[in-house]
Parts: sequence; structure tokens; C-alpha cells
Amino acid sequence: MKIVSACLADYKCNWKGESKPNEKVMKLVKRGEAIPVCPEQLGGLTTPRPAAEQKGDKVFTIDGKDVTQYFVRGAHEVLRIAVIYNCTEAILKSKSPSCGCRQIYDGTFTGKLIKGNGITADLLVANGIKVYTEENFRL
Ligand code: SF4
Repeated sequence: MKIVSACLADYKCNWKGESKPNEKVMKLVKRGEAIPVCPEQLGGLTTPRPAAEQKGDKVFTIDGKDVTQYFVRGAHEVLRIAVIYNCTEAILKSKSPSCGCRQIYDGTFTGKLIKGNGITADLLVANGIKVYTEENFRL
């Protein structure tokens, strides 16, 4: 069983209230092989919501509000689901401050990317779950 970012499974859960559908991820969900989760919604944030980016180990909205606690709560909820369902792999949306893996935005809201993991991706990796993005996973 895999964890997948809900926006990749066509849930309209991103900060704009939109989805980022990915055919392969949607097939996995339809076959019952993946569980769609949105850590930002699970952490208690609204949809839509202000854009947010990481700065160090914190997350701030574009208007400067520290929303780290919601991102951390959502990450732990996703880990809990992963443990309950014995998930060993995750396919997460690239570059997101929650789901991004190996590459995230730099916190300046200018589109600049830096090395790093989103808060949820980081927690999953630290707990032995293999994390891929929709750009680098293979079925
Ligand atoms: Fe998609 Fe993850 Fe952002 Fe939710 S938190 S909208 S699942 S990238």
C-alpha cells in the first residue's frame, strides 16, 4: 500500500482549491493500492488557503503568518495513516512545503527552488518510508 498526495488523485485540496491530477496516481487509487491524503487539510488548514513556503524548519504564509504547527500536525496525521495501513512507499507532489521531496521553494515566493524536503515528506523519510514525487516514480 502507498500513500499519495490527494491533489495528485484529483482532490481539489491545494492552496488554490485546485487539483493536480496524475493519471498513474489516480489508477493506483482506483485499484485500491494507494491512499490519498492531504497533510495541509489534515493539519487543520482551510481550502483554499494562503500560499505558504518553508524557511528553515518553519513555514510561513505569503503574508508572514507562521503556520508551522498546522504543517507539523498534518505530517504526523499522514505518518499515523501510513503506519495503520502498512504503507512502505509514498508518491507526493513535488516542490510543496508539505509534500515536496528533495526540492522545495526557498521561502521568498519568487519561484526559486532549493534542496530540501517538505515537512510531511521529511517525516515519512525519517520513519523509513520511501518517498517519490509524481516526476520520478515508476509503476
Ligand atoms: Fe497536495 Fe500535499 Fe499540497 Fe495537499 S499538502 S495540496 S496533498 S501538495
